[in-house]
Amino acid sequence: MATKDTVSPDTFNINPINIPNIPPWILHKTNIDLSLTHILHSQNPEISKRTALYHLQENYPDFVYMYTDGSKTAEKTGSGVYIQQYNIKLTFEINCRSSVLSAELYAILSALHWLTISSICRAVILTDSLGALQSINTADWRKHGLVNKIVLVNHELLYRGMTVQFMWIPAHQGIPGNSTADFLAKLSTMRSPTHPEVAYNSAVIQLCYSEACSLISHHCLQLWNDEYIHTRRAITYKLFCPVMDTNRTKMHIPATIFRLRAGYCRLHSHLYKISLHPDGLCDTCGIPETVEHFLIQCSNYAEVRHTLQRSIQHLDINFDWITLLKNTRTIPSVIAFLQQTGRAL
Ligand SMILES: [Zn+2]
Repeated sequence: MATKDTVSPDTFNINPINIPNIPPWILHKTNIDLSLTHILHSQNPEISKRTALYHLQENYPDFVYMYTDGSKTAEKTGSGVYIQQYNIKLTFEINCRSSVLSAELYAILSALHWLTISSICRAVILTDSLGALQSINTADWRKHGLVNKIVLVNHELLYRGMTVQFMWIPAHQGIPGNSTADFLAKLSTMRSPTHPEVAYNSAVIQLCYSEACSLISHHCLQLWNDEYIHTRRAITYKLFCPVMDTNRTKMHIPATIFRLRAGYCRLHSHLYKISLHPDGLCDTCGIPETVEHFLIQCSNYAEVRHTLQRSIQHLDINFDWITLLKNTRTIPSVIAFLQQTGRAL
């Protein structure tokens, strides 16, 4: 088979996997507090904020609060750390191709590094990234080089007698320290990140394997999409799907919907084109039986169409054949409509 392109591993500057010299059963365990995750989907920011601040005061009254956050734009990726009691504000611009998870992990690692040169005895590192804390909790050093470093620096700090706690807090709920860390992370992704109170840093970090895999997938898809977009074929199908994606988590689209989108189905209009129907007209209405006619106009299916309309009226979308076949939320109702018409398409 001919190849379209070749991607060399060197292109991505992947972080080599360093095997720690301390076996995992000797490493100090990371202390992670996820007790606030029950307010993950809280609708009331004020209650979320008060709950989080109360939890901090009750459980970590004499700890230094270190808020961390990560941010990513199309051009830049960065991390922010805010050390509340010392009013220290740090930003780090990292590898622009790194994921937002890496940005979150790098912020946590930076907070830990700051602790190694401080005389602080107790610190709580606060993040709104559940993914970052879960990665640290599983501590699988093969998956992410930054997790590996976090676990090792944490071990060193605990070995010295320091108390280090990690804690999840809800994002965008008006918790002042979290808002500052969010601002610092976003500042690092700006074109000219200057601010009188903020220490700006640039850090060279390599990509982990999962990030490189994701970039390779994106690159392949882009190559195939360039061809798909510029081909003169599939013109009708592009009405429904202007660009392709390989997101396998997306809803499964049944083959009948694909056939209706392309117009290659057993409606009379298409059968006529391939000489399997005498005139291509609808038996009831006497006009060409196209996909649009069948779905939207044909008086033969007025009753089942009414059921279809009722089932999707809450979506507040146009009732036209392109929208019906394009919108993944309408497809279950369209399938039900097809079954009720009894037509084999
Ligand atoms: Zn008709």
